[in-house]
Amino acid sequence: MSAWDALTAGRDGVPVLEAGHVWLTGAGPGDPGLLTLDALAGMAQADVIVHDALVDPRVLRLASPQARLVFAGKRGGKPSADQADITQHLIAFARAGERVLRLKGGDPFVFGRGGEEASALAAAGVPFRVIPGVTAGLAALAAAAIPATLRGVNRALIFAVGHGREEEFDWAPLVRTGQPIVLYMAMHNLAQITAAMMASGLAASTPAAIIAAATTPAQRVLVSTLAALAAEARAQGFEPPAIVVIGDIVNAREQLLGVVARTDRSAP
Ligand code: SAH
Repeated sequence: MSAWDALTAGRDGVPVLEAGHVWLTGAGPGDPGLLTLDALAGMAQADVIVHDALVDPRVLRLASPQARLVFAGKRGGKPSADQADITQHLIAFARAGERVLRLKGGDPFVFGRGGEEASALAAAGVPFRVIPGVTAGLAALAAAAIPATLRGVNRALIFAVGHGREEEFDWAPLVRTGQPIVLYMAMHNLAQITAAMMASGLAASTPAAIIAAATTPAQRVLVSTLAALAAEARAQGFEPPAIVVIGDIVNAREQLLGVVARTDRSAP
């Protein structure tokens, strides 16, 4: 059975990636098991796959052999390709009649600049669709046995980005909600962010965790408190990509961890 036959077996309405179209697609956090079937269908049909550095090599290995892989993204936090260049490439490939898969880490619309790419494609009149992906903020919590919501503990979950100028952002209103905060791109500013949260009234003892390289073989988890998190992360060499989570939901991990099943992908 070909990969395409396997993908379409028993499933009606597999979407067709047409010539001249772009799919803005989420690749998930790393583990290829977290790709959606539509993402996989796109990878099977694309002529060209334009991917970010965050797209796991194990995901890229699922591309059809006829697909050209084009790297466009950021490495080490430094832009290696200008956003305008990336969108111009997508438009040019589509206008040349190619079937284009734009593959982005996690979900394209969550801190991934997918919205900007979608607007540029819309402005250029290039037909596109968005295939959501499993965003790192949720996948990392699941991988670390931290429930995103727990009855009686939280009624909301805040996703925020830690990257940017601290003086331009006020953490106090987020802290006042009393709801857990999940931070993307926070590792470089972690000491300032945690200090700002404490200055806004969040207890120094608030449970906090970092999940680095979630769902990859390099995954590491650090459980700490708001006050100690940045220093411990530095001491233990925690590096991006990482998700930071602050709030009482972190406490559930200890109880769940003892009995979560191993995710052994090679099991029959
Ligand atoms: N669109 C992506 C986010 C892109 S911003 C998504 O929805 O997941 C890049 C940030 O995502 C990283 O700095 C890190 O905070 C987070 N991230 C992406 N992949 C990750 C992973 N495997 N483990 C932990 N964090 C990850």
